[in-house]
Amino acid sequence: MNFDLTPEQEQLRDAVRTLGRRYGHRYFVEKAKAGEHTTELWHEAGRLGYLGVNIPTEYGGGGGGITELALVCEELAAAGCPLLLLVVSPAIAATVISRHGTEEQRKRYLPGLADGSQKIVFAITEPEAGSNFHRLGTVARRDGDDWLLSGRKCYISGVDEAGHVLVVARTEDAASGKLKPALFVVPTDAPGLTWSKLDMEILSPENQFLLYLDDVRLPADALVGQSLDAGLPALFSGLNPERITVAAMGAGTGRYAIERASEYTASRKVWGGRSIGSHQGVSHPLAQAAVQVELARLMIYKAASLYDAGRDLEAGVAGNMAKYATGEAAALAVDTAVQVLGGAGMTTEYGVATLLGAVRAGRIAPVSREMILNFVAQHVLGQDKSY
Ligand SMILES: Cc1cc2nc3c(=O)[nH]c(=O)nc-3n(C[C@H](O)[C@H](O)[C@H](O)COP(=O)(O)OP(=O)(O)OC[C@H]3O[C@@H](n4cnc5c(N)ncnc54)[C@H](O)[C@@H]3O)c2cc1C
Repeated sequence: MNFDLTPEQEQLRDAVRTLGRRYGHRYFVEKAKAGEHTTELWHEAGRLGYLGVNIPTEYGGGGGGITELALVCEELAAAGCPLLLLVVSPAIAATVISRHGTEEQRKRYLPGLADGSQKIVFAITEPEAGSNFHRLGTVARRDGDDWLLSGRKCYISGVDEAGHVLVVARTEDAASGKLKPALFVVPTDAPGLTWSKLDMEILSPENQFLLYLDDVRLPADALVGQSLDAGLPALFSGLNPERITVAAMGAGTGRYAIERASEYTASRKVWGGRSIGSHQGVSHPLAQAAVQVELARLMIYKAASLYDAGRDLEAGVAGNMAKYATGEAAALAVDTAVQVLGGAGMTTEYGVATLLGAVRAGRIAPVSREMILNFVAQHVLGQDKSY
């Protein structure tokens, strides 16, 4: 058993940390408040190869795995820049296309994802289906060689800054019963595709959208893998990377909050010469949050190494557990940081309350804590489904 990163992974972690700190949380917050995107950081990370660490080298990537991408997500978040689109574009879309796309699709999309010049966002959630993906109502119909897509999606992140969206649909003849999904790469300027921005209570430079597909016409080669049988394995291949990288982002955010809070409580003195951190009522909650974040990190990197070893089923269990643990730990860490900073905790300047919305959302998306508990109850504890 070995808990150490390789020297290359350490180098990557340190380099990403340096980049993230150069931008920092203030940059992230300023962009969010101005309604702008973190374009400079994204492009610099792309040029340095950090966005493509998990993409095969023949398509311009770094040839690493989800472990490397998790390090990138964690370190940027630990510097105060939790970029949700890392989870969507390099983790989900690049994995789905690398593993299940045709050779032509890999050549077309992966180099742009690897250098950050292209983003592909991901659309599965629907207003009526919610957590029950078996009820997806977005339908793909054949029209000659083409496909016509119709339906509605909600909470789709980053549509406004992406060239394409990976849409999960079902074929017309499978409109009921068990989901047989079909995945399509849809250009965001395709006629019939429109969107409207959702007002969210999350301070973030990345936005969520309602997406409307009204007979969006696509050529045959928009279907990932070009066979309907590729849909289900393609969808599942994106889920473990999604859970692992979103967990890594949460762990980084937790670390960031605990670091900010520890600096503050070690230097703040309101009772004579002692720091407020010397009072255990202040230091213990912080220490507890640090323990929870570190435990979650262990599960993240266990899940990532299982995934990179091709042990998908075990990675599924570990990835779900890591996502659950990190969602709770990050929310605890940020809330505790706000508390121990007192009034300063609620200011923009100290940069911790700015993360409250994001960590709260991390207990809901991309899979809610309840759906993970359902998964663990059924698949680990052998319990029956109630739904
Ligand atoms: C910031 C943010 C970004 C997002 N980005 C994307 C994106 O890019 N692409 C995308 O496709 N989606 C995205 N989503 C959507 C997200 O994945 C969903 O919100 C999430 O899966 C929950 O679905 P829902 O909101 O429909 O909740 P619902 O399914 O309506 O559930 C509501 C509540 O009921 C609970 N619940 C439901 N069923 C059960 C059950 N059987 N047992 C116990 N509890 C249950 C849920 O846990 C939840 O707490 C995003 C959401 C957010 C908040």
